[in-house]
Amino acid sequence: MQPPLSLRGPRPAQPDGRFAPSPSGTLHLGNLRTALAAWALARAQDARFRLRIDDLDAGRSRAAVADEQLRDLQAIGIDWDGPVIRQSQRTARYAEVVDRLDAAGLLYRCWCTRAEIRDAVRAPHGPRHDGYPGTCSRLTAAQIATREASGRPPALRVRASGTFASFTDRISGPHSAPLDDFVVRRGDGAHAYNLAVVIDDRDQGVGEVVRGADLLETTPRQVWLHERLGLPIPSYAHVPLLLGEDGERLAKRHGAVTLAERRAGGESAGAVRALLASQLGIGGPGAEHDPQVIVAAAAALLQRAA
Ligand code: GLU
Repeated sequence: MQPPLSLRGPRPAQPDGRFAPSPSGTLHLGNLRTALAAWALARAQDARFRLRIDDLDAGRSRAAVADEQLRDLQAIGIDWDGPVIRQSQRTARYAEVVDRLDAAGLLYRCWCTRAEIRDAVRAPHGPRHDGYPGTCSRLTAAQIATREASGRPPALRVRASGTFASFTDRISGPHSAPLDDFVVRRGDGAHAYNLAVVIDDRDQGVGEVVRGADLLETTPRQVWLHERLGLPIPSYAHVPLLLGEDGERLAKRHGAVTLAERRAGGESAGAVRALLASQLGIGGPGAEHDPQVIVAAAAALLQRAA
Protein backbone atom coordinates (compact mmCIF):
# COMPACT_ATOMS: atom_id res chain seq x y z
CA MET A 1 0.00 0.00 0.00
CA GLN A 2 1.43 3.36 -1.01
CA PRO A 3 1.22 6.42 1.24
CA PRO A 4 -1.61 8.89 0.58
CA LEU A 5 -0.92 12.00 -1.43
CA SER A 6 0.72 14.85 0.37
CA LEU A 7 1.36 18.24 -1.20
CA ARG A 8 3.78 20.96 -0.29
CA GLY A 9 4.26 24.58 -1.22
CA PRO A 10 1.90 27.40 -1.96
CA ARG A 11 -1.09 26.98 -4.24
CA PRO A 12 -0.48 27.96 -7.85
CA ALA A 13 -1.77 31.40 -8.79
CA GLN A 14 -3.47 29.76 -11.78
CA PRO A 15 -4.90 26.41 -10.66
CA ASP A 16 -6.63 25.28 -13.87
CA GLY A 17 -5.79 21.63 -14.42
CA ARG A 18 -5.99 18.97 -17.10
CA PHE A 19 -5.73 15.33 -17.99
CA ALA A 20 -4.11 14.34 -21.28
CA PRO A 21 -4.27 10.64 -22.11
CA SER A 22 -2.52 9.12 -25.13
CA PRO A 23 -5.15 7.06 -26.99
CA SER A 24 -2.97 4.02 -27.52
CA GLY A 25 -4.70 1.72 -25.06
CA THR A 26 -7.49 1.47 -22.50
CA LEU A 27 -6.89 3.55 -19.37
CA HIS A 28 -5.95 1.34 -16.45
CA LEU A 29 -6.66 1.99 -12.80
CA GLY A 30 -3.37 3.87 -12.40
CA ASN A 31 -4.28 6.30 -15.19
CA LEU A 32 -7.78 6.72 -13.76
CA ARG A 33 -6.33 7.36 -10.32
CA THR A 34 -4.01 10.08 -11.66
CA ALA A 35 -6.92 11.63 -13.56
CA LEU A 36 -9.01 11.62 -10.39
CA ALA A 37 -6.23 13.38 -8.45
CA ALA A 38 -5.81 16.03 -11.16
CA TRP A 39 -9.57 16.60 -11.41
CA ALA A 40 -10.22 16.72 -7.66
CA LEU A 41 -7.35 19.16 -7.03
CA ALA A 42 -8.58 21.51 -9.77
CA ARG A 43 -12.19 21.35 -8.63
CA ALA A 44 -11.17 21.83 -4.99
CA GLN A 45 -9.70 25.17 -6.07
CA ASP A 46 -12.82 26.10 -8.07
CA ALA A 47 -10.64 25.90 -11.15
CA ARG A 48 -11.33 24.74 -14.66
CA PHE A 49 -10.40 21.24 -15.76
CA ARG A 50 -9.39 20.51 -19.36
CA LEU A 51 -9.28 17.32 -21.34
CA ARG A 52 -6.78 16.77 -24.11
CA ILE A 53 -6.16 13.78 -26.33
CA ASP A 54 -2.43 13.35 -26.93
CA ASP A 55 -2.68 11.75 -30.36
CA LEU A 56 0.53 13.14 -31.84
CA ASP A 57 1.74 9.65 -32.59
CA ALA A 58 -0.54 8.77 -35.49
CA GLY A 59 0.74 5.21 -35.65
CA ARG A 60 -0.25 4.37 -32.07
CA SER A 61 -3.37 6.53 -31.65
CA ARG A 62 -6.89 5.17 -32.17
CA ALA A 63 -9.99 7.37 -32.27
CA ALA A 64 -12.11 4.58 -30.77
CA VAL A 65 -9.68 4.26 -27.87
CA ALA A 66 -9.90 8.01 -27.23
CA ASP A 67 -13.72 7.75 -27.10
CA GLU A 68 -13.50 4.86 -24.66
CA GLN A 69 -11.07 6.82 -22.47
CA LEU A 70 -13.48 9.77 -22.31
CA ARG A 71 -16.35 7.43 -21.40
CA ASP A 72 -14.33 5.78 -18.63
CA LEU A 73 -13.34 9.15 -17.17
CA GLN A 74 -16.98 10.29 -17.18
CA ALA A 75 -18.09 7.02 -15.66
CA ILE A 76 -15.94 7.58 -12.58
CA GLY A 77 -17.34 11.11 -12.20
CA ILE A 78 -14.74 13.27 -13.94
CA ASP A 79 -16.12 16.22 -15.89
CA TRP A 80 -14.30 18.91 -17.85
CA ASP A 81 -14.70 22.39 -19.26
CA GLY A 82 -14.64 23.40 -22.89
CA PRO A 83 -14.02 21.22 -25.90
CA VAL A 84 -11.71 18.21 -25.87
CA ILE A 85 -8.50 19.27 -27.63
CA ARG A 86 -6.78 16.83 -29.99
CA GLN A 87 -3.08 17.31 -30.66
CA SER A 88 -3.45 15.88 -34.16
CA GLN A 89 -5.44 19.00 -35.07
CA ARG A 90 -2.88 21.49 -33.81
CA THR A 91 0.02 20.97 -36.20
CA ALA A 92 -0.10 24.53 -37.58
CA ARG A 93 0.14 25.96 -34.08
CA TYR A 94 3.15 23.78 -33.21
CA ALA A 95 4.83 24.78 -36.49
CA GLU A 96 4.36 28.45 -35.61
CA VAL A 97 6.17 28.00 -32.29
CA VAL A 98 8.96 25.98 -33.95
CA ASP A 99 9.45 28.94 -36.31
CA ARG A 100 9.71 31.25 -33.32
CA LEU A 101 12.35 29.08 -31.67
CA ASP A 102 14.21 28.90 -34.97
CA ALA A 103 14.10 32.67 -35.47
CA ALA A 104 15.62 33.03 -31.98
CA GLY A 105 18.56 30.85 -33.05
CA LEU A 106 17.60 28.09 -30.63
CA LEU A 107 17.32 25.22 -33.15
CA TYR A 108 19.58 23.24 -35.42
CA ARG A 109 19.08 20.41 -37.88
CA CYS A 110 20.16 16.91 -36.97
CA TRP A 111 20.66 13.98 -39.34
CA CYS A 112 21.88 11.45 -36.77
CA THR A 113 20.30 8.01 -36.74
CA ARG A 114 19.45 6.26 -33.49
CA ALA A 115 22.41 3.91 -33.94
CA GLU A 116 24.81 6.83 -34.45
CA ILE A 117 23.56 8.52 -31.29
CA ARG A 118 23.89 5.29 -29.31
CA ASP A 119 27.48 4.80 -30.45
CA ALA A 120 28.45 8.42 -29.74
CA VAL A 121 26.98 8.26 -26.24
CA ARG A 122 28.95 5.08 -25.52
CA ALA A 123 32.26 6.49 -26.79
CA PRO A 124 34.95 7.06 -24.10
CA HIS A 125 34.64 10.84 -24.38
CA GLY A 126 30.88 10.83 -24.86
CA PRO A 127 28.63 13.30 -23.06
CA ARG A 128 28.14 13.25 -19.30
CA HIS A 129 24.36 13.15 -19.62
CA ASP A 130 22.34 10.34 -21.25
CA GLY A 131 20.94 12.49 -23.98
CA TYR A 132 21.99 13.58 -27.43
CA PRO A 133 25.75 14.21 -27.66
CA GLY A 134 25.45 17.32 -29.85
CA THR A 135 27.08 15.84 -32.95
CA CYS A 136 25.11 17.86 -35.51
CA SER A 137 25.57 21.13 -33.60
CA ARG A 138 29.25 21.03 -34.56
CA LEU A 139 29.02 20.29 -38.29
CA THR A 140 31.06 22.30 -40.78
CA ALA A 141 29.38 23.86 -43.81
CA ALA A 142 30.79 21.07 -45.97
CA GLN A 143 29.44 18.36 -43.67
CA ILE A 144 26.03 20.03 -43.70
CA ALA A 145 26.08 20.13 -47.51
CA THR A 146 26.82 16.38 -47.64
CA ARG A 147 23.94 15.60 -45.32
CA GLU A 148 21.56 17.86 -47.20
CA ALA A 149 22.52 16.06 -50.40
CA SER A 150 21.63 12.69 -48.82
CA GLY A 151 17.96 13.68 -49.08
CA ARG A 152 17.19 12.38 -45.59
CA PRO A 153 14.98 14.95 -43.81
CA PRO A 154 16.59 16.24 -40.61
CA ALA A 155 15.08 16.44 -37.15
CA LEU A 156 15.12 19.79 -35.34
CA ARG A 157 16.89 19.98 -31.99
CA VAL A 158 17.13 22.76 -29.43
CA ARG A 159 20.45 24.21 -28.28
CA ALA A 160 20.03 23.40 -24.61
CA SER A 161 23.08 21.34 -23.72
CA GLY A 162 25.14 22.82 -20.89
CA THR A 163 22.10 24.41 -19.23
CA PHE A 164 20.04 23.23 -16.28
CA ALA A 165 16.34 23.41 -15.57
CA SER A 166 15.02 23.62 -12.02
CA PHE A 167 11.54 23.33 -10.63
CA THR A 168 9.83 22.31 -7.41
CA ASP A 169 7.36 19.47 -7.66
CA ARG A 170 4.46 19.79 -5.22
CA ILE A 171 4.79 16.13 -4.32
CA SER A 172 8.46 15.17 -4.66
CA GLY A 173 10.11 18.54 -3.97
CA PRO A 174 12.97 20.36 -5.72
CA HIS A 175 14.52 19.01 -8.93
CA SER A 176 17.37 20.28 -11.06
CA ALA A 177 18.57 18.49 -14.17
CA PRO A 178 21.04 19.05 -17.01
CA LEU A 179 19.48 19.41 -20.44
CA ASP A 180 20.51 17.83 -23.70
CA ASP A 181 19.72 19.07 -27.20
CA PHE A 182 16.33 17.39 -27.39
CA VAL A 183 14.15 17.05 -30.49
CA VAL A 184 11.20 19.37 -31.09
CA ARG A 185 10.36 18.07 -34.56
CA ARG A 186 11.27 14.67 -35.87
CA GLY A 187 12.71 13.97 -39.31
CA ASP A 188 9.30 12.72 -40.47
CA GLY A 189 7.78 16.10 -39.57
CA ALA A 190 5.99 14.99 -36.40
CA HIS A 191 6.23 17.45 -33.52
CA ALA A 192 7.64 16.14 -30.28
CA TYR A 193 5.60 15.57 -27.14
CA ASN A 194 7.73 18.00 -25.10
CA LEU A 195 7.00 20.82 -27.50
CA ALA A 196 3.29 20.08 -27.93
CA VAL A 197 2.57 19.72 -24.23
CA VAL A 198 4.07 23.13 -23.43
CA ILE A 199 2.06 24.89 -26.15
CA ASP A 200 -1.15 23.02 -25.33
CA ASP A 201 -0.96 23.71 -21.61
CA ARG A 202 -0.32 27.36 -22.35
CA ASP A 203 -3.17 27.63 -24.88
CA GLN A 204 -5.61 25.84 -22.58
CA GLY A 205 -4.70 28.12 -19.67
CA VAL A 206 -3.38 25.24 -17.58
CA GLY A 207 -1.48 26.43 -14.51
CA GLU A 208 -1.24 23.18 -12.57
CA VAL A 209 0.04 20.02 -14.21
CA VAL A 210 -0.90 16.95 -12.18
CA ARG A 211 0.25 13.77 -13.93
CA GLY A 212 1.93 10.42 -13.40
CA ALA A 213 5.42 10.22 -11.90
CA ASP A 214 6.59 8.43 -15.05
CA LEU A 215 6.61 11.85 -16.73
CA LEU A 216 8.77 13.55 -14.10
CA GLU A 217 11.88 13.06 -16.23
CA THR A 218 10.31 14.98 -19.14
CA THR A 219 9.63 18.04 -16.99
CA PRO A 220 13.07 19.75 -17.16
CA ARG A 221 12.80 19.91 -20.96
CA GLN A 222 9.33 21.40 -20.71
CA VAL A 223 10.47 23.93 -18.10
CA TRP A 224 13.33 24.93 -20.40
CA LEU A 225 10.88 25.48 -23.28
CA HIS A 226 8.53 27.54 -21.11
CA GLU A 227 11.48 29.70 -20.09
CA ARG A 228 12.78 30.19 -23.63
CA LEU A 229 9.31 31.02 -24.94
CA GLY A 230 8.76 33.51 -22.12
CA LEU A 231 5.77 31.56 -20.79
CA PRO A 232 4.81 31.26 -17.12
CA ILE A 233 5.94 27.90 -15.74
CA PRO A 234 3.03 25.83 -14.44
CA SER A 235 3.08 24.23 -11.04
CA TYR A 236 3.86 20.49 -11.22
CA ALA A 237 2.64 17.60 -9.09
CA HIS A 238 3.74 14.14 -10.24
CA VAL A 239 1.52 11.52 -8.66
CA PRO A 240 3.21 8.22 -7.66
CA LEU A 241 2.26 5.39 -9.98
CA LEU A 242 -0.12 2.69 -8.88
CA LEU A 243 1.81 -0.52 -8.34
CA GLY A 244 0.68 -4.12 -8.44
CA GLU A 245 0.97 -6.35 -5.38
CA ASP A 246 4.44 -7.39 -6.57
CA GLY A 247 5.62 -3.77 -6.40
CA GLU A 248 5.81 -3.49 -10.19
CA ARG A 249 4.03 -0.88 -12.31
CA LEU A 250 0.41 -1.91 -12.91
CA ALA A 251 -0.05 -4.01 -16.05
CA LYS A 252 -2.43 -6.48 -17.64
CA ARG A 253 -0.86 -9.43 -15.84
CA HIS A 254 -2.06 -7.96 -12.52
CA GLY A 255 -5.60 -9.05 -13.35
CA ALA A 256 -8.62 -6.74 -13.53
CA VAL A 257 -6.90 -3.41 -14.16
CA THR A 258 -9.39 -1.55 -16.36
CA LEU A 259 -12.79 -0.12 -15.48
CA ALA A 260 -14.52 -2.55 -17.86
CA GLU A 261 -12.78 -5.49 -16.19
CA ARG A 262 -13.73 -4.27 -12.70
CA ARG A 263 -17.33 -3.79 -13.79
CA ALA A 264 -17.36 -7.26 -15.27
CA GLY A 265 -16.33 -8.47 -11.83
CA GLY A 266 -19.38 -6.80 -10.28
CA GLU A 267 -17.89 -3.53 -9.06
CA SER A 268 -19.66 -0.25 -9.91
CA ALA A 269 -17.80 2.73 -11.41
CA GLY A 270 -18.55 4.59 -8.17
CA ALA A 271 -16.92 1.83 -6.14
CA VAL A 272 -13.82 2.01 -8.32
CA ARG A 273 -13.75 5.80 -7.81
CA ALA A 274 -14.05 5.41 -4.06
CA LEU A 275 -11.26 2.83 -3.99
CA LEU A 276 -8.86 4.95 -6.06
CA ALA A 277 -9.66 8.08 -4.04
CA SER A 278 -9.07 6.29 -0.74
CA GLN A 279 -5.66 5.12 -2.00
CA LEU A 280 -4.82 8.76 -2.70
CA GLY A 281 -6.01 9.78 0.75
CA ILE A 282 -8.94 11.76 -0.66
CA GLY A 283 -11.69 9.21 -0.12
CA GLY A 284 -14.47 9.42 2.42
CA PRO A 285 -17.91 8.13 3.31
CA GLY A 286 -20.27 8.45 0.37
CA ALA A 287 -17.51 8.76 -2.26
CA GLU A 288 -18.99 5.78 -4.04
CA HIS A 289 -22.16 7.72 -4.80
CA ASP A 290 -20.96 11.31 -4.85
CA PRO A 291 -17.74 12.51 -6.52
CA GLN A 292 -18.02 15.80 -4.58
CA VAL A 293 -16.93 13.93 -1.45
CA ILE A 294 -13.54 13.56 -3.13
CA VAL A 295 -13.42 17.22 -4.08
CA ALA A 296 -14.04 18.15 -0.43
CA ALA A 297 -11.28 15.79 0.70
CA ALA A 298 -8.91 17.30 -1.88
CA ALA A 299 -9.75 20.76 -0.51
CA ALA A 300 -8.74 19.56 2.96
CA LEU A 301 -5.50 18.18 1.54
CA LEU A 302 -4.75 21.57 -0.03
CA GLN A 303 -5.53 23.24 3.28
CA ARG A 304 -2.88 21.12 4.99
CA ALA A 305 -0.32 22.01 2.29
CA ALA A 306 -0.85 25.75 2.44
N1 GLU B 1 -0.14 11.87 -22.92
C1 GLU B 1 0.80 11.61 -21.87
C2 GLU B 1 0.61 10.19 -21.36
O1 GLU B 1 -0.47 9.66 -21.49
C3 GLU B 1 0.63 12.54 -20.70
C4 GLU B 1 1.02 13.91 -21.02
C5 GLU B 1 1.08 14.84 -19.83
O2 GLU B 1 0.33 14.66 -18.87
O3 GLU B 1 1.88 15.77 -19.88
O4 GLU B 1 1.54 9.60 -20.84
